[in-house]
Amino acid sequence: MANRAVFMDRDNTIIANDGYLGDPAGVKLLPGAATAIASLRRLGYRIVVVSNQSGVARGLFDEAAVKAVNDEMCRQLKRQADALVDAIYYSPHHPDAPVAEYRQDHPWRKPKPGMLLHAAGELNLDLAQSWMIGDQPRDVDAGAAAGCRTILLGNAPTAVAGGEGEAKPDFVVASLADAARIIVREGANPPPEPPTAAAVSPQAPAAPEERDTSAPVVKPHPPLQVLPAGAAPDAAGSAGKTAAEATDSGDHLDILEQMLQQLRHLNHGRHSHEFTREMFLAAMVQFVSLLFLAMAAWDAVAALNVPIDANWWFNKTSEQLGAIEWLLAALVGEVMVLALLWMGQSK
Ligand SMILES: [Mg+2]
Repeated sequence: MANRAVFMDRDNTIIANDGYLGDPAGVKLLPGAATAIASLRRLGYRIVVVSNQSGVARGLFDEAAVKAVNDEMCRQLKRQADALVDAIYYSPHHPDAPVAEYRQDHPWRKPKPGMLLHAAGELNLDLAQSWMIGDQPRDVDAGAAAGCRTILLGNAPTAVAGGEGEAKPDFVVASLADAARIIVREGANPPPEPPTAAAVSPQAPAAPEERDTSAPVVKPHPPLQVLPAGAAPDAAGSAGKTAAEATDSGDHLDILEQMLQQLRHLNHGRHSHEFTREMFLAAMVQFVSLLFLAMAAWDAVAALNVPIDANWWFNKTSEQLGAIEWLLAALVGEVMVLALLWMGQSK
């Protein structure tokens, strides 16, 4: 069975980049990116980074620098949220490159889908069940050409009306974290319309020499888990479909409900310290038990003046009897407290 994947652009999708980044010291993860990647991967998606790196073709840095930046990005993702990336592909080419070696309109350079198609072959990916996320229209074009659903990051009106891309994104959201919520919401639902045969049919794999330009970072895939946090996202930023359209099927609602149940179950441990009704009752009973204990102590102090002989148990004074009764009542209260706390925990 083929795997699902989330393809991601690198610059200004996972890490901040104001220009051409060739220095690993400048790697800075965007807020929420690591958590989003970790969550998607736990849902069973392969995480595949696909990045144009024309800075190499422009002579600004070499491929070793690209790999160093990628390594640093992976290190920070791992450290911040234990987020792993399955593979990274990049295109160092540009059709007008000063560096002759990289001067070509390479099939891996987005908006062409070469990197995605190559990854699909290497990682056994079902492109129709996969997503492409990026901050540029060319990311959307590459994803759409590969037969993936697409999410564009950025300001919705500007992004949609940008004019550079030919394909319309399925969704437009502000961040990778929001994109992850869209994917979680869509879950295992198939795309609204089956992709055309041309869109998903395997295309010719990259030529052997093109593989030398890749930097795959394939790592063991963890067992399927459930997203640790998140809820149905706000679809206000959706450009391709509305929230009503996206949630208009019974199957989808069923899947959402199942996911929410799993999330509640998973989050139970995390929220076990929340103040529950049982905890409130336990606190009340505890208070009463302390009063009983105080009364027991009061009677016990009063009973100190009463001499204790061998038959005191059968000839208890009212103070001794009261102390014992109050003590027993306090013990019963403590048992109730423990029972209530146990009931609250096991809910
Ligand atoms: Mg980008």
